[in-house]
Order: sequence, then structure tokens, then C-alpha cells
Amino acid sequence: MSSHSLIQFPFADPVLVPMPKDFLKDARDEYDVVVIGSGLGGLTSANLLARQGYSVLLLEHHYQLGGMATWFKRSGGHIFDISLHGFPMGMIKSCRKYWTQEIADSIVQLKGIRFENPQFSVRTTFDRGDFTRILTNKFGVAPETINAFFDRARSMNFYDDQALTTRQLFEEFFPGRDDVVRLLMEPITYANGSTLEDPAITYGIVFSNFMHKGVYTFEGGTDALVTKMKEELIRNGVNVRIRTLVEKIEVSPDRQVQAVVVNGRRIKCRAVMSNANLKTTILKLAGEEHFDKSYVESASAVRLNSSSCQVYMALKPGEGFSEDVGDLLFHSEHSGFDIDAMLSRNVSSRTFSFYYPRTRPGSNRWMIVSSTNANYKDWADLSDEDYLAAKRDLEETTLDCLEQYVPDVRAKLDHIEAATPRTFEHYTRHIAGSSFGTKFEGLQVSKDLPQQVGGLFHAGSVGIIMSGWLGAVNYGVIVSNDVDKYLTPATATV
Ligand SMILES: Cc1cc2nc3c(=O)[nH]c(=O)nc-3n(C[C@H](O)[C@H](O)[C@H](O)COP(=O)(O)OP(=O)(O)OC[C@H]3O[C@@H](n4cnc5c(N)ncnc54)[C@H](O)[C@@H]3O)c2cc1C
Repeated sequence: MSSHSLIQFPFADPVLVPMPKDFLKDARDEYDVVVIGSGLGGLTSANLLARQGYSVLLLEHHYQLGGMATWFKRSGGHIFDISLHGFPMGMIKSCRKYWTQEIADSIVQLKGIRFENPQFSVRTTFDRGDFTRILTNKFGVAPETINAFFDRARSMNFYDDQALTTRQLFEEFFPGRDDVVRLLMEPITYANGSTLEDPAITYGIVFSNFMHKGVYTFEGGTDALVTKMKEELIRNGVNVRIRTLVEKIEVSPDRQVQAVVVNGRRIKCRAVMSNANLKTTILKLAGEEHFDKSYVESASAVRLNSSSCQVYMALKPGEGFSEDVGDLLFHSEHSGFDIDAMLSRNVSSRTFSFYYPRTRPGSNRWMIVSSTNANYKDWADLSDEDYLAAKRDLEETTLDCLEQYVPDVRAKLDHIEAATPRTFEHYTRHIAGSSFGTKFEGLQVSKDLPQQVGGLFHAGSVGIIMSGWLGAVNYGVIVSNDVDKYLTPATATV
């Protein structure tokens, strides 16, 4: 059928009006599993379920796959990664087992991690050995204390005491040492917005994942990674559809998933694996009438994590900066470690990611992305004019700050633009643009979902532990196993 139709207005020449494209063309009316959302959790679940032999339809509302793990292009041949700053070494194993050897082989270590703040200037490879050296030599902490702290962090798991806060954990090992807390906590706060009041296990698990062997990245950029993932999904038989917004998850009166409504079309399924925001999945897509009252109360009470602002900067082709600036730089002008200051629109703390041509081997581009934690409410209600002005101001103040490390950055700059919590909300549909899903309590609500509605599952950033690249992939694996068990219940033996 032609993509244009002829419309005849009275007394006028006929005009050609483009027909909206059908992004579900040739999709079947029924699948075993519908996966809503193509973040790393959704992609991984879809891949494993297809490998297990289920028919899988993956629906993504954006025109690109990856969720937060995505990229965008700008004129002049610039490609910006959105959340490719660093992840733990565990990604290598997860990608090898649940994706492909080729994907795992492209993961490389970032060795130049820097802290620059009024309390200290430190360079580290961000692994246990190097942290021990720095804490002993520079901060004067006894090696036994450092070892005991790392052992404690490494041994933490989900079933531990959840009442202990990160603040209490630090107080136990490093009483009164604001500088040590800053070194150990600031990168994690930047990475996932967690605070000293969050349960210590969220810190312990995330930090010791990194401490295991440092910080890693994907060589080739997010575009190469997600393209390889898409190829693998298609090889395994997943039906992948972009620009498909799921409007509703249909639940029967006896609380079983029946279908989804997407782009106005009803598609039946035996199970839904939602990678959309946890609260949206329960309260909007399914609807609270299908859940126990107490469960709805718990879901409503789940707190969202903070959001982010980013400034993307591309230098003119061939123009660069010295290797000496490092890969990841935690910069702060604040005298002590202060989470409110880190979230404030009056920015005093930034993480700079420096991308060299080796990020995309063969390219001649040096790029810089500056990230700051941010509160949605500081950006949500600005008028269009004030919003644009605030973004311009963020770009300018970021360049002012960056000049300390790349003195001629303004002369070399080819492109600059800012993203805010509103940008993340628009592209990923996360409530308030939350960059790391929900706070800790979201994990239990996510895990309990299938007990409320048969066949309804959630995998995606929750509880800090299941967030970030590694957390999202691994949670996708765990939940796809639950979906598999639900679809093929064990045969009872007599
Ligand atoms: C600025 C920034 C920097 C970050 N840096 C790092 C980092 O350095 N290291 C790290 O480990 N992590 C980082 N993260 C976090 C990490 O990227 C995320 O935790 C992870 O990618 C989230 O994966 P997810 O599976 O939860 O899905 P998400 O990425 O949240 O994706 C969900 C997907 O669902 C889609 N969707 C939602 N609703 C619907 C619907 N109704 N219909 C169809 N589709 C829908 C969305 O469009 C989206 O594609 C960063 C995040 C941000 C924002």
C-alpha cells in the first residue's frame, strides 16, 4: 500500500497527505511474551526469553533502542553517548553469558580516574589495591581498617540487615573522617544518586562491584554495542519494534495478564516483562484496580531516585586534549561532601567524562560530557524562555569550569548542548526523569509484582542495586528466569 493517500477537499485541488507509518506492520496478534521497553534490562530479558524458545515482541517507544544506554548524533559527524561513563568489570561476564563473546571482548578498562576538590587531589585506577595505597599513604588510615572495610563491603548481600545506613557504616570504620567518606562515597553518589541515608547494602554491593577490579567502558561506543545487541536479538528471533508506545497492560478480572495495547492495537500475550518505570507499570499501564490495596500503597510510597543534567561537548575534528586529563574526573568546589550541594542547580560539583578517539577506534574525535545530579523540580516548572536560559547558563558555567583542565576548550569547541531531567523524562518516560529508577524499597515492590498479577513482571532500574548498566542487565537475567518458570511450570512428580 502507498504511504500517501489522496484527500479531496471541496473546491480545492487534491493534496497528498502522508499516512502515518505502521510501526507494527506484520506483527502477529499474539506472542508468548511482550517486553515493554528496550533499556539494558528489557533487551537482556528479551534476548534470553527468545533463546529459551519463546515468541517475544520487544516494544520501544523511542526511535532508538537502549533506553538510557543510548546515543545521539549531531551535524559534523559527532556521536554522543548518554550513559557510557563507566561500569564494573562484572559486565564482561554478563555480556559473555547473556549476549555474545564479541560484545564481552569490546569491554576495556578506564585507568585514569581523578578527584579534584578542596580536600584532596587524587588519581586512581579505582580498584581495591590502589584505594588501599591511597588511603594508607595519603589519608593515613591503618591498613587493617581499610581491609576490614573492604571485606565488609564485599560480603554484603540483599538478605543482610537493611537498617544499617551508609552513614553508620562509614562511622563504624572511619569515624569523623569526612575526607575518607568523600573519596569512597562521592563517585557512588555521582553514579547513582545514592545518599548516606540509604541502606548500607546498596553502597556495599555497588561499591564492591567496582572495587573488584576498577571501572570499565565499551570500546566502539553505545551505538556499536546496541547495534550488536539488536543483531543478536534478531538472530534469536525477537520481533523488535521501535516507535511503539504501550498504552495499557490488559489484566483479566482474575488477575492474569492478557494483552497489551500499543499504538492503538491490541496484542495478546501470556506474559509481560515491563522495563518501563516501576511506578508507571503498576499505577498507569496496568492500573491500581488490579492490585491489593496494601500493594498499591507500597508502590505509591516508593521514592524515585534523583535525575541528572548533562552537557555534551564535541571538539572540532582532529582537535584534542592531553591524555593527562584522565578518563573520569570528579570535580567539586564544595569544601566538604554535601549531597544537597551536589543536587543543587547552583552547580558546584561535576563529573567530566573525557572521550578520546580510541572510544570509537578510527575516529578523530575528542568529546567531553559533564554530568551533575539534579532535582527534577528545579527544572520542571520553568517557562520555555527560562528553561532555555537555564540550559545556556549550564553550558557556559560548565565551560568556565572545564577551562581549568582543558584551557583552550572554547577555541576548539564545535558543538555544545545540555540535557536536563526534562530531557530524560521525555526520552525514557521515567517519572521525573529519574536516572537510576527508584530508591531501595522499589526492589521489593518490583519482585512482588508477579504475585499480584499472574504473568506480569518488571525488570529495570530499582533499588540502586539493580540499577546502572550491570544492575539492569543482571536484573533482566533474573526476571527472565522467573518468566520462564511461569510459562513452563515444573511438572509435578508423584
Ligand atoms: C546521565 C546518565 C548517566 C549514567 N551513567 C551511568 C554509568 O556511567 N554507568 C552505569 O552503570 N549506569 C549509568 N547510568 C544508569 C544506566 O544507564 C541505567 O541504570 C540503565 O541503563 C537503565 O536500564 P533499564 O533497563 O532500567 O532501562 P531504561 O534505560 O530506563 O529504559 C527503559 C526503556 O523503556 C522504554 N519505555 C518506557 N515506557 C514505555 C512504554 N510505555 N512503551 C514502550 N517503551 C517504553 C523507554 O523509552 C526506555 O527505552 C546513567 C544514567 C543516566 C541518565
